[in-house]
This record gives sequence, C-alpha cells and structure tokens, in this order.
Amino acid sequence: ASGYSLLRDPQYNKGLAFTDKERDAHYLCGLLPPTVSTQQLQEKKLMKNIREYQVPLQKYMAMMDLQERNERLFYKLLIDNVEELLPVVYTPTVGEACQKYGSIFRRPQGLYISLKEKGKILEVLKNWPERSIQVIVVTDGERILGLGDLGCQGMGIPVGKLALYTALGGVRPSACLPITIDVGTNNEKLLNDEFYIGLRQKRATGKEYYDLLHEFMCAVKQNYGEKVLVQFEDFANHNAFELLAKYGTTHLVFNDDIQGTASVVLAGIVAALKLIGGTLADHTFLFLGAGEAGTGIAELIALEMSKQTKVPIEESRKKIWLVDSKGLIVSSRKNSLQHFKKPWAHDHEPLNNLLDAVKVIKPTVLIGSSGVGRTFTKEVVQAMTANNEKPLIMALSNPTSQSECTAEEAYHGSPFDPVEYKGKVYISGQANNAYIFPGFGLGLVISGAIRVHDDMLLAASEALAKQVTDENYNKGLIYPPFTDIRKISANIAANVAAKAYELGLATRLPRPENLVKYAESCMYSPVYRNYR
Ligand code: NAP
Ligand code: MN
Repeated sequence: ASGYSLLRDPQYNKGLAFTDKERDAHYLCGLLPPTVSTQQLQEKKLMKNIREYQVPLQKYMAMMDLQERNERLFYKLLIDNVEELLPVVYTPTVGEACQKYGSIFRRPQGLYISLKEKGKILEVLKNWPERSIQVIVVTDGERILGLGDLGCQGMGIPVGKLALYTALGGVRPSACLPITIDVGTNNEKLLNDEFYIGLRQKRATGKEYYDLLHEFMCAVKQNYGEKVLVQFEDFANHNAFELLAKYGTTHLVFNDDIQGTASVVLAGIVAALKLIGGTLADHTFLFLGAGEAGTGIAELIALEMSKQTKVPIEESRKKIWLVDSKGLIVSSRKNSLQHFKKPWAHDHEPLNNLLDAVKVIKPTVLIGSSGVGRTFTKEVVQAMTANNEKPLIMALSNPTSQSECTAEEAYHGSPFDPVEYKGKVYISGQANNAYIFPGFGLGLVISGAIRVHDDMLLAASEALAKQVTDENYNKGLIYPPFTDIRKISANIAANVAAKAYELGLATRLPRPENLVKYAESCMYSPVYRNYR
C-alpha cells in the first residue's frame, strides 16, 4: 500500500511518530514534516488541545476526529485520562452529541440497518470490513439515556459504549461493531429536522418490528457464529425485556440497562453493607421507578439474597418493594401491570406516593431509578433518617439534572467527603455501569461463552465489590477509584469466565489456569507497534 493511504488508515496511522526508517520503508518521505515525535508527546499535545475547548461537544468532536485519524492514539488518551475523558466520549456529552448527530455527522461510524434493508441484513453485515467480530452493541434509538427517542441518531451510544469496551475492557477495536437499527422515530422534532439522518417515518411496531429484529439476530449468528456478544442498549422497556428473554436462550445477549445496571448497583450495596451493617436479607428495599433499571436491580438483589439464605426467590422478592408512576406496586394492580412488574406485586394496601411508601414500608435502602429529578425530597430523606440509624440512599437517575437528590441534600456535606453527619453515616459514590460491562464482556469473550447466565452477573458484581479496599471504605466510598479500571475489568472478566466454565457455557478449552493473568494478557494495548 502507498504511504499516503497508510496515513489515512486509522488502524495503522501513527502520524509524526513514524520513525525515519519506517518513513523510508513505507513511502512516507515528504508526506510528513521532518520531526519524529513520540506517542507520549502526541498525547500531551492532544490533551492540551482538548483541554482548551470550553464546550464539551467540541471536546467530543475532537476525540471522534482522533478516533477516525489515529485509533491507537485515541485509545492511549482514553486509557491514560479515563476520568477526564469518560464524560467526553460517554455520558453526559454523548447525549448531546446524539441530539445533534445529524448536524455534526461527518464520516459514518458503525452499521445502519433500517427497514430498507429488510431481507438483506446478512448482505449488509458482509459490507463491514472486519470479519471476526466479538462484541456488537446495538440500539434502536428509542430510549437514549434519559433523553428519549432519538431514532437513528442514537448511533452515538453504540459507538461510545464500544470505545469503552476497548479502553476499559481491552477488547480489540477491530472486534467491536456498533449497530443502529432504524425502524423510524416518534420524535416529531427529528422528523421535521431537515438534517435528520434517519428514516422519516413513525416507528414500526409489532410484527414488523419483531420480524426485522429476528432477521438481524439470525444474520448475526450466521455471520459471526455462536460466540459473538450482542449487547442491547437503550431500547425502550416495552421491547427490552422481551428481546432479552427471547434471544437469551439462542444467542449470547446482554442488556446493559437491565443487567449491567443491576450488577453494578448490587456491588455497591454489598460493599455498603460493610459500612451500614447487616446482610442483604436483613434489609428492606424500596425503589422509585420500576423500569429496566429498577426491576433489573431488584431481581438481582433477590437472586443474591436467595443464594445466601437458601430461601426461594419468591420469598426474597418480598423484601423488595417498587413504586412506579402510579404508586406502590401491589397485588390489587396485578392485572394491569406490565409483565416485568408482576413479580413485585406484593399484598399490601395501595399507596399512591413515595413519601407514604417510605413511612409505611420502612425501607432501610432507598433506590431512585425513575429518571425523574428532585423526587427524594427533604421529607422523604427525613423519613428515611427517622426510621434508620444508617439509611442507604442511592440516587441513580441520569443525567445529573434528573438526579433524585444531590449528595448534599442527602447529608449536607460535600459529595465525596466522608460520611458522618450529625452522628449518622452516609455514603456516596458513582454507580457507573462502565465499572461492569467492559470486564463482563471481556470475560465472555476470553472464555468463548455461548450464553449469559444470571450467575455471571453475580460473579461480576462480586468481583467489583471485592475491589473496594479498606482505604476506599475509610473514605466512605463503595466503589473503587476509576483510575484502576483496567485492573478491575481484568478481575471481573476472570470471575465471569470462571463462572462460564463452571456452568459448562465456555468453549475456549483448555481452561486457562490463572484467569486473571489470562484476561490481562488478552487486553488490547494502544501502544504503537513498529513497522518493518
Ligand atoms: P424506564 O425503563 O423507562 O423506567 C422508568 C420507571 O420510572 C418506570 O417504572 C416509570 O413508571 C417510573 N417513573 C417515571 N416517572 C415517575 C414518577 N414521577 N414517579 C414514580 N415513578 C416514575 O427507565 P430505566 O431504563 O429504568 O431508567 C431509569 C433511570 O435510571 C434513568 O434516569 C437512567 O438514566 C437511570 N439509570 C442509571 C443507571 C446507573 O446509575 N448506573 C443505570 C441505568 C439507568 P411507569 O412504569 O409507571 O411508567
Ligand atoms: Mn444505556
């Protein structure tokens, strides 16, 4: 290949870091200025440039440009500056990027599969340049973050998530495939936006929708085999649960909004128990919000409780209560409840607001997963405090503007300072899904797993909770610092892989002796290679 095309191939381009020898050997002489730079210096320059941008979206675009220009340098930046750049390439900035995707759109990333491709999805997959794919993140754009239906412009999400798969979990970039399925959008603003890039029609539903998804899932398995991980991302809950259940028995599928959230939150709760005392079964849980996050977390807590106490899961669920937009979920509502809420319809008189539920149910743990901000009012927090010496309050709703309350409102202290206020213990930390999914996916990939099992979610959760050190606890933290994320991911991957082998779901044989070492050895490194 010519030197000119080498400079334009993001997988191989090193820019000024090509050595003189490499420039000679690869017809690059004259195509670059004379200076030979190091990757470190390039990183320093780019970080300086990015820090000079005041507007987050500009930082995002600078990062996307870099990804298209020099992939290894992009990942080097992301890995070395993870805390600073995560909010740029992922939430919250990616949300704004999706909203404006039509306008900032340059070179297309990922694969677009729309209703126009019906009957030809296998051919579409074959248009993708890479043959061996390990992880697909797919969205239909209907519930992007807390922003709702962004249709085809949801593509920013699979692209961003997969960047984290590589940076945090070490999955090779060439093995990652972002996909957006476009069945239309119900977002009027987008339908009327002249720069909108998607199908200009209302969302297909019912059979038309499910047929397209089925064709997609079959084509994926046919093209990439049994071991490709398909992560469903940001589907609306009326499809998310059904797709997960439907394909869970035939494909390697994972839904981060339901299962990843559950695993990361359970890890936080298990870690928090060290500070607030008791076992899971000693606690009573109340959720505000009974969607993907709420019911997903609730179910995983119940499962872990049952493992610990050997009590049937139906019994464990009785320690967990959920409130949705109509109030406490109780058995008298059962007939009108969506399928995924039914397990939580316990016998109780109806209560139509959160404050009453807190007063009557007397939870020891309160979890906000409704997507609505400012719902943990002063009265609610006071009711929690009146009932408990050490209440655990988790406000999960995103973005920050939608948070149930601030840490400050919960304990009148600065968010990340410990933990004692007026003799009571409060904890804060960020239940970021990025703690779990990259390591979880890596564990599936390195073991060649062919199905996801709930016990693997527990394994991931357990591995994460174990990474919290005494030093972290002393600071009142229930999650380890993000700067250690590659090590954390390797440990999660190892524990997940171990579970896959134990369950007979792993196909990579023989089983590596030391799974942590093996996971680490599989992880992608962004350091430049030498070209002879
Ligand atoms: P979802 O499936 O749409 O569920 C939302 C739930 O909240 C529904 O049960 C809904 O009730 C309920 N709800 C809405 N407004 C309410 C109100 N005013 N009062 C009481 N309940 C109300 O959404 P999701 O995927 O679960 O996500 C929910 C939130 O969690 C989002 O803000 C998301 O960003 C956040 N989240 C955080 C993390 C994390 O921190 N790691 C992970 C995932 C999600 P109905 O069922 O009655 O409509
Ligand atoms: Mn999501």
